[in-house]
Amino acid sequence: MALETILSSLIRIVGEENVAHDFVEIPSIHLQTYADVNSNKKAMAKKKLSVRPADIHQVSEVVKEARKQKIAVIPVGGSTTFFVTGGPVPVADESIIVDLRRLDKILDFDEKNGTVTVEAGVTVQKLKSFLESRNWWLPHHPESYVNATVVGAICNDGISPYSTKYGRPAEQVTMIKVVLSDGQTCTIGNKTLFDNAFMLTRLFLGINGSLGVIVEATFKVYPAPESRARSLYGFSTATDACEAVKEINRAGLSPEVVMMPSKERIYNEALLPILSAVDVSGVLEGKEIYVFVGYAGSKEIVEFSLAQTEKIAKGRNGDKIDSRVANSYWSNLTEIGAVVSPQMATIYKSKKYQSSRGGISISHLPQFLDLEKELVPKNGEIVDDGVTSYVFLPQLDADPICGILLDDSNQESVNIFNRWLDDVSMLNKKLGGTIAAVGGTGTMLQHLVGIEMGDSLSLAHAIKKAIDPDGIMNPGKM
Ligand SMILES: Cc1cc2nc3c(=O)[nH]c(=O)nc-3n(C[C@H](O)[C@H](O)[C@H](O)COP(=O)(O)OP(=O)(O)OC[C@H]3O[C@@H](n4cnc5c(N)ncnc54)[C@H](O)[C@@H]3O)c2cc1C
Repeated sequence: MALETILSSLIRIVGEENVAHDFVEIPSIHLQTYADVNSNKKAMAKKKLSVRPADIHQVSEVVKEARKQKIAVIPVGGSTTFFVTGGPVPVADESIIVDLRRLDKILDFDEKNGTVTVEAGVTVQKLKSFLESRNWWLPHHPESYVNATVVGAICNDGISPYSTKYGRPAEQVTMIKVVLSDGQTCTIGNKTLFDNAFMLTRLFLGINGSLGVIVEATFKVYPAPESRARSLYGFSTATDACEAVKEINRAGLSPEVVMMPSKERIYNEALLPILSAVDVSGVLEGKEIYVFVGYAGSKEIVEFSLAQTEKIAKGRNGDKIDSRVANSYWSNLTEIGAVVSPQMATIYKSKKYQSSRGGISISHLPQFLDLEKELVPKNGEIVDDGVTSYVFLPQLDADPICGILLDDSNQESVNIFNRWLDDVSMLNKKLGGTIAAVGGTGTMLQHLVGIEMGDSLSLAHAIKKAIDPDGIMNPGKM
């Protein structure tokens, strides 16, 4: 009812051609490869209007109208988290979906401050190309880089291989411009990473737009390094692999990438695309887990760091793996733009990908991996896609992304997946970690938020109430 009342105002603000009754377009690669385990597709049928504002003023006017009618506002960038976490899924009876993709300008590149300022709809790919042409780079490269927006990544607390050294993209944000729930625009921060005492910039990041619409963001960016090199080591036990990573850290080496894929991941992501070219048994035999390490800097430092890494890995019984496998792993991770490669799609056919995304200390990783293996359903319908752990240094935290392939048209498989997801998420929590190291809780883990936050949940609600008193900003998400 309220939506009908507001329709003419929205048309006046953004123009008739920029208002639709459908949800915004979701990239096909996302629909084809991610399993819908939360009936998110069904939620699309909820009453909604999608608007495509052209500038900040229009965003602000749309939010003001929504506030008057107390209608939910859901900001959307690339919409690539629709099935991943359900961040942009409408859960209220009526919603206005604010598609920010027309705000696609790179506004300012400031070499002296080492910052770039973008509008909310700029994709990771667009910013990457812009910076590359100037010999600079942004240390964030999600697999979904073609469609994902940089601001979507900070709202969703994204992660990428470079998080090892640079943290999440949210940690590179120096300044944001945000439209609050009353339509007022507020600029927070400066061009350094020094924040004021309340860390106000951080307050708006990683929470799926549940406090406001970020319309602009400024990021720290870096001159491209002179050289980069990577290598891959195989280990028979997770304990040896984790000890090797700890030793790399203790030695004072500073890798920009440390990833720890399991055997299944190496097979699916690195070996499948090059099966005919390498000796598979030589790569897999006697190995359970791998450590992929990348360095950046001057050629001399990179070579030295790799040589030291090799020494440390050997001391922990790690074998250096054929560089073609290492290169294949890296290109799968950073180039194909999908979590299910074409080769995997051929083998697993109707099965799609889903995962748990908790976070623990690396010291708990061996125990976590053992227990997770026991939890994986063994009914033949669900395929274990193994675990890839993103490693954060120097704090030695790990984000074990546990992958499952399932047919989401089979409700029994979906139910089994969701029970497994709860168990694995809680396993992270029991080991002193978090149920959602990446992606926020969205609709997917909403039912575990109370356990995750404990008595701090009422504080979070109080902050939400103070900033968004009518609860219109992406309700039901964290
Ligand atoms: C194939 C595939 C691979 C992926 N790989 C990775 C990966 O490697 N690393 C990773 O971190 N993620 C990955 N993801 C998840 C997702 O793509 C990323 O997190 C991405 O950065 C989200 O950006 P987006 O623009 O699509 O955000 P959206 O999905 O549009 O939005 C994400 C959340 O933020 C909110 N939001 C969006 N824009 C704004 C705004 N301007 N103001 C306030 N709130 C806003 C939305 O309401 C939603 O809750 C992958 C997804 C797919 C489909």
